Amino acid sequence: MAISAEERTATVTLTIDGREITVADGTTIWAAAKAEGIDIPVLCHDERFDPVGVCRMCVVDVGGPAFAASCVRACENGMKVQTTSPELDRSRSTLVELLLADQPARERDPKQVTTGDNELLALADQLGVTWPGDLAVGSGRGSDASSPVISVNHDACILCDRCVRACDDIQGNDVIGRSGKGYGTRIAFDLNDLMGDSSCVSCGECVAACPTGALTNKPIHDVPIRPRTELDAVDTVCPYCGVGCALTYYVDRDRGAIAYAEGREQPGSHSRLCVKGRYGWDYAASPQRLTMPLIRREESYPKGPLSADVRGEMAAARNGDAGLDDAAGNGGANNGKGKSKRKKPGGLVDYAEVLPHFREATWEEALDLVARRLTEIHAIGGPAAIAGFGSAKCSNEEAYLFQKLIRTGFHTNNVDHCTRLCHASSVAALFEGIGSGAVSTTYGDIVNAEVAIVTGTNTPANHPVASSFFKQARRNGTTIIYVDPRADKMADHADVFCQLKPGTDVAFYNGVMHEIIRLDLVDHDFIATRTSNYEALAETVASYPPERAEQITGVPAELIRRVARIWGEARAGIIFWGMGISQHTTGTDNARCLIALCSITGNVGKQGSGLHPLRGQNNVQGASDMGLIPMYYPNYQKADDVAVKERFEAAWGISDLDPKRGLTVTEIIGSALKGGVRGMYMLGENPFLSDPNINKVRKALSALEFLVVQDIFLTETAEFADVILPASSYMEKEGTFTNTDRRVQLSRKVLDPPGRARVDWEVVQDIANRIGLGWHYESPREIFDEMVSVTPSYKNLSYDNLGLSGKLYPNPDPERSDGTVVMFGEKFNTDDGLAHLVPAEWLPAKELPDADYPFVLNTGRLLEHWHTGSMTRRSYALDAIAPRAQVYMHPADAASLGLADGELARVSSRRGSIELAVKVSHTEAAGNCFIPFHFREAAANLLTTDEIDPFGKIPEFKFCAVRIERAGRPAQAGAASTDGAGPDDG
Ligand code: SF4
Ligand code: SF4
Repeated sequence: MAISAEERTATVTLTIDGREITVADGTTIWAAAKAEGIDIPVLCHDERFDPVGVCRMCVVDVGGPAFAASCVRACENGMKVQTTSPELDRSRSTLVELLLADQPARERDPKQVTTGDNELLALADQLGVTWPGDLAVGSGRGSDASSPVISVNHDACILCDRCVRACDDIQGNDVIGRSGKGYGTRIAFDLNDLMGDSSCVSCGECVAACPTGALTNKPIHDVPIRPRTELDAVDTVCPYCGVGCALTYYVDRDRGAIAYAEGREQPGSHSRLCVKGRYGWDYAASPQRLTMPLIRREESYPKGPLSADVRGEMAAARNGDAGLDDAAGNGGANNGKGKSKRKKPGGLVDYAEVLPHFREATWEEALDLVARRLTEIHAIGGPAAIAGFGSAKCSNEEAYLFQKLIRTGFHTNNVDHCTRLCHASSVAALFEGIGSGAVSTTYGDIVNAEVAIVTGTNTPANHPVASSFFKQARRNGTTIIYVDPRADKMADHADVFCQLKPGTDVAFYNGVMHEIIRLDLVDHDFIATRTSNYEALAETVASYPPERAEQITGVPAELIRRVARIWGEARAGIIFWGMGISQHTTGTDNARCLIALCSITGNVGKQGSGLHPLRGQNNVQGASDMGLIPMYYPNYQKADDVAVKERFEAAWGISDLDPKRGLTVTEIIGSALKGGVRGMYMLGENPFLSDPNINKVRKALSALEFLVVQDIFLTETAEFADVILPASSYMEKEGTFTNTDRRVQLSRKVLDPPGRARVDWEVVQDIANRIGLGWHYESPREIFDEMVSVTPSYKNLSYDNLGLSGKLYPNPDPERSDGTVVMFGEKFNTDDGLAHLVPAEWLPAKELPDADYPFVLNTGRLLEHWHTGSMTRRSYALDAIAPRAQVYMHPADAASLGLADGELARVSSRRGSIELAVKVSHTEAAGNCFIPFHFREAAANLLTTDEIDPFGKIPEFKFCAVRIERAGRPAQAGAASTDGAGPDDG
């Protein structure tokens, strides 16, 4: 019989320890007691998991013949609950004594040093139970040290299954189960594999859940982790991806180093972390940190790359690169076991080669030189001769100051950052379509969606914690439709998987919309009142019946029809997309289709519906909001709008801002090649590896008259610098960061900068003052307040009201509210308030496979690495798990080329060649291959094309034609030359 709404909201009244309380029906005794401030001890229970009631530690007296497990027993009307009594204490003490008898003694087992509290030992202390030393200690279940980051001590396991539920129910990784019988029962990874050999992704959620010393973090620094009570806790935010998970670093102040990281509660991460957040923070303590300003020596001109080239592992071998040692199989680090801590991670800039070309300088000398040279170039070449690349890794305050410096100091809008390389086309389409570049709802809103389309994103690798929300939503009934050329992990968690051919997204979504219109599953009211240009859209998609879409995309027409029906019939749906949509020459058209698909079905502006481009870097949303882009001032106010220009002239107290849009990243590189842009300031960007067709980038960087690079490491780009300024890492400063959900969070200082490295905003201010801008900011807080005053969407936010979880913008009342989840409930941000539907015709990619270059190359990221690897490849754990570049190939393709897994292949495009190991993988469809772009020694962007989307100006990282052959064979006629320079080089 169905339960009525009244029954569902009914309450029950009971007494707990004599206190009368009323709770919602269904509340467990444990939860009711906790709400009253009464702690009932538990071992198997954790509020984040469904209760199982197996450890019996939480038993309470409810007046029946037996004690009841309070974590699973629901409150009942009139119930009288006693949580403590001599009998209950005796029961708990006996249980603890029994468990303790089988534990390795604290002092006997150094692995008992845990990164969390050992709850069993704490409970024993609380109950006054000591280890019964006269009993034989059980043993024989063994230990497992195969993971680079986690120790497994089966003898300390009490089989509470918290790790199982953490892995399955929270992270959705489904790695841990149980094996064995009786006393031999133990937790098992996959099919009882070693943890390091299993499908474990090292998220550490099981460690965070374990109440004993069975699963513990290995020390990253080779020094035992001290007890938590001896460490400083700093609440901050993960420095990697746009999810922006909240975490706490536990800092050993005696050693000046982070000991470990732990997730903490925040609505967008719920204490979860991925491998990068939990184990990837030691880069900040790398001995390779820059600690002094450096000036290029006179004898090191003319400029060019100073260290070993980026062609591949054969080249790395010749240069004694450590990464190849692993590839040769000497230590096992290449296969994820990471048994040894290598002195030098593979594939990074060789400091011994590069540093001799620079001399140390004082900050005074270096900053004077920067200001003088940029001013000279500006005086001679005018505003067009200067450009700045900021970084989405920098804070909002740094982004704001940097664009203000370039705009007010050099009177140019030539300021951009890596948003150009990730979601520029999405933002272009969103502005055109709905008048806002930000997400219309949060990823957590998927819990309210009946269906979600996840497309062009390997979410478990690139936004791992967001993907855990997706997996959880699916377990709770949300249908997941996954559309992507690669069958990566998201495909395993989808109800419907459409493996389309690369570059055919427009045809696929036009086919879906065709079918939705044919079946009359559109939302007529929404179309009539909230959109414009529907007729033109309908006319365009009319020529994409599913059969035609199948011909173009390779997705069966029936599957396209199924997607259309599921989406069209759903009460609410969200589309999440990543760079598989945006990084195409048709990226804006791809995003236009997604906007149209949501709009014609009324799936924007209500709970569980909307548009969510998953933003890549931790502050790409904020850096864009702050105007670190050539066409907009802060808050996306148009740079070429006279009224906006005058507004900023008034706000900033100057009179000659540039009235034109500036150049984008790729246009700046092109301009530098032609002698237009001659002086550049790069703050935390490494275009030498991150930009497409890096032969061209190399020439452009060499051609610059003056380049100042501000960074934490000697990057490939710094090799072309005239001056290198040692910056502070994320850990060493305070500032705000805006995640993909529009959540503005405060990151706090954890460590001191090394040597003479300085906080970035102060360096930017020093340069500003040397060119006469007269800035007097005293703190990031002060910059934030100015920034908010010119950024209406951040209105009301302040350092004082962001709190520990940050706040979503827009936020009318941050003191009381987390902020706006669903936007555009009434109208869109366009001039007329309507969603502008823009039809798109499918166009093929710019460089199609042919007889010479028969494969399609797709590039992207790995779970363990970030961007150009300058941070993650200096993180012990991340480099140990994923130390080498690989080209992922379909088994049939590898077989046809005579290549086996692990063998070296040469991959060539019209622009260059690289050599790297083959990874035979069913993830790729036949005819396609994938190379992550983090690896300098096999730089994928030597191969990519610099063709760009005409609207977003984003390069086509996801599609170019390549040839694959066994490495070591001589290049064939027409192949790229072995020095990496191709026919269109320059
Ligand atoms: S580290 Fe993460 S993926 Fe691996 S077993 Fe633990 S919870 Fe599962
Ligand atoms: S999901 Fe992103 S923000 Fe969260 S821990 Fe991983 S890298 Fe950090």
